[in-house]
Amino acid sequence: MYPEAAGSSFDFNSPEYLQWQCDIYNELQGHLNESDGYNCDICKNKGQIAIISDDTVINRPCKCTPIRDSLKILRESGLANCTFDNFNCGEKWQEKLLETGRNFVETTRGEWLFIGGQSGSGKTHICTAVLRSLVFRYRIKVELFKWAEDSKRLKQLVNDPAYTEAMNVYKTPKVLYIDDFFKIKRGENVTAADVNLAFELLDYRYCNKLLTIISSELSLDEIVDIDEAIGGRITQRSGRFELYISKDRKRNYRLKPIRSESEARENGGQTLY
Ligand SMILES: [Zn+2]
Repeated sequence: MYPEAAGSSFDFNSPEYLQWQCDIYNELQGHLNESDGYNCDICKNKGQIAIISDDTVINRPCKCTPIRDSLKILRESGLANCTFDNFNCGEKWQEKLLETGRNFVETTRGEWLFIGGQSGSGKTHICTAVLRSLVFRYRIKVELFKWAEDSKRLKQLVNDPAYTEAMNVYKTPKVLYIDDFFKIKRGENVTAADVNLAFELLDYRYCNKLLTIISSELSLDEIVDIDEAIGGRITQRSGRFELYISKDRKRNYRLKPIRSESEARENGGQTLY
C-alpha cells in the first residue's frame, strides 16, 4: 500500500501518487517472451509501459513493439528460425551467399538486396536472416511479401476500395522483403496484372528510397526482359548487392536424397524426390 494512503486528506492526483502507480505497473512481469523469445528489460515483456501524461497515468507501447510485430510476421510465415548462424555453409557459393547477406546488413545505406537464381539454394533463408538482423539493429517493424500468395490476393482486390490500404501495408514499411518475386506456376507466364502490381509496389519504394530485399528464381536480366522499368529500378538500387546463384540442381537442398534408411525413418519415411 502507498505509505500515505491511510490519511484522510490524501491527494490521489499528486505527482508522487501517480508515479507510484506507474512504478507498480512497470515492475510487473509479462509473458510476451514466451511466444516470441524476445526479452525486454524496459517493459519486462508486457509490451507496454505506464507513464504520466496530463496528470493521468496512461499506458503506451514499449520500444520492443515493432520488434515483436516483426517476429510475429516471421513466425506466421514459418521463417522464424532463419538466421545467419544456422545457415548451412559447406560450399564456396554458400559462403558467398552468407557473406553478401552479412555485408548488406553491415554496410547498406539504403541500397536494395537482390538474390536471384537456383530454387532451394537458401536465398529465402539468407534474405530472412537479413530482415531479422535489420529488425534488431534498427528496432523497426518490417514486412514480408510472399509473391505467390500475396500477389494473388492483391490482384483479386484491385478494383475493391480495400485495395489501397492493403497495398500500403507493403508499400510503406521502412524495410520490405519480397520472397520469390514473379514466382508463377509451371507453364504459366507473368501477366500484365503481375507487372502492374510489381511496378506500383517497387516504383513507390524506389521513389521514397525505402529499403527492399528481393529473392527470385529469375535473374535481373530476365526481369528486365519482362519489364524494363521494374528491372531497371531494381538494378539501379541494388548495385553492389546483386547476387545470382547459377542454376544447378545440386544446389537445391530440397532435392537432396535421404542417405540412409534410418535417416528416412527420422524424416517420417518420406523421400524428398
Ligand atoms: Zn518492451
